[in-house]
Amino acid sequence: MTDQTSILIIYTGGTIGMVQDPKSGTLKPLTFTNLYKYLPVLENFNYRFDFHTFNPLLDSSNMSPSFWIELAKVIEEKYESFDGFVVLHGSDTMAYTASALSFMLENLGKPVILTGSQLPIGMVRTDGRENFINSIEIAAAKEQDTPVVPEVAICFDNTLYRGNRTTKFNAENFDAFVSGNYPVLADVGVYIRYHNEHILNPKFKKLKVHKKLDENIAILKLFPGINQNIVKNTLTTPGLKAVILETFGAGNAPTVPWFLDLLKEAVDKGIILFNVTQCKGGKVEIGKYETSAGLGKIGVIGGYDITTESAVTKLMYLLGCGFPKEEVERLLQVSLRGEMTV
Ligand code: ASP
Repeated sequence: MTDQTSILIIYTGGTIGMVQDPKSGTLKPLTFTNLYKYLPVLENFNYRFDFHTFNPLLDSSNMSPSFWIELAKVIEEKYESFDGFVVLHGSDTMAYTASALSFMLENLGKPVILTGSQLPIGMVRTDGRENFINSIEIAAAKEQDTPVVPEVAICFDNTLYRGNRTTKFNAENFDAFVSGNYPVLADVGVYIRYHNEHILNPKFKKLKVHKKLDENIAILKLFPGINQNIVKNTLTTPGLKAVILETFGAGNAPTVPWFLDLLKEAVDKGIILFNVTQCKGGKVEIGKYETSAGLGKIGVIGGYDITTESAVTKLMYLLGCGFPKEEVERLLQVSLRGEMTV
């Protein structure tokens, strides 16, 4: 590697890479040959850029664990040759991809910054331009030769978030993400203000990339009036290994006997039940209310302040590692990549 800062830009799809066909008016994906046409400012960076484009490009609603594995493989392959990575991605499932990468990339010591936009880069009022440029700056930032943000992060609307703490909460504002339980990592204004006290310390160990994810999980979102058959059918899905119970408030759920009995049967069959709150801020506290005490007695595991996106990908990762049930349950209560406050 030369002294020149090098950034790999990985293009997975999403709105950011769209430009309007002048003839038909339809949106079509940008190619990297015409990227400089839309972002001539790239020429002004004294960085070496290289590009990796996925084919086909995806609307992020089509994102999948197998794609996350391909993405992690690209980062693994190019890890030693670049100082930082910028991943262009649709915003709809960006929080899931960022969470998945955070677990898959153990000992990460370099920035992996995901970004996208609400308006295509080929439109006059696009937010993609500043999101992209900010992400490049952040991926390249070093202090005393050490990356400033050695973690998987999302850069959106002048804010840098820990990826596995985010949720997309707005479908049309430029300010599309929220990190309800963790402070932002940086604010972008005239200066990029890094909040170093909230950023993970760099790892100086060898990067280890986990490429097995187990998809045999489900989310059971509770609502008043939830039907017994729905709960039963979910919990008896063949091959099911774990269920995220999206509960109310501080981890609360109905106390009707049929509900608790079904949960108990699932736990007795070896299914892991993980209690994650539907709230975007605050945490699960099993036993705080009578409506969660029963869950604790059955053996439901509390997810503290983890997001659903992070819970999904953490479960896929831990089950993919092939750990026994007890170890998965233990690790669910440990913060592995800063994904929850224990
Ligand atoms: N549907 C798009 C996607 O997630 C939206 C976006 O890029 O913001 O791929």
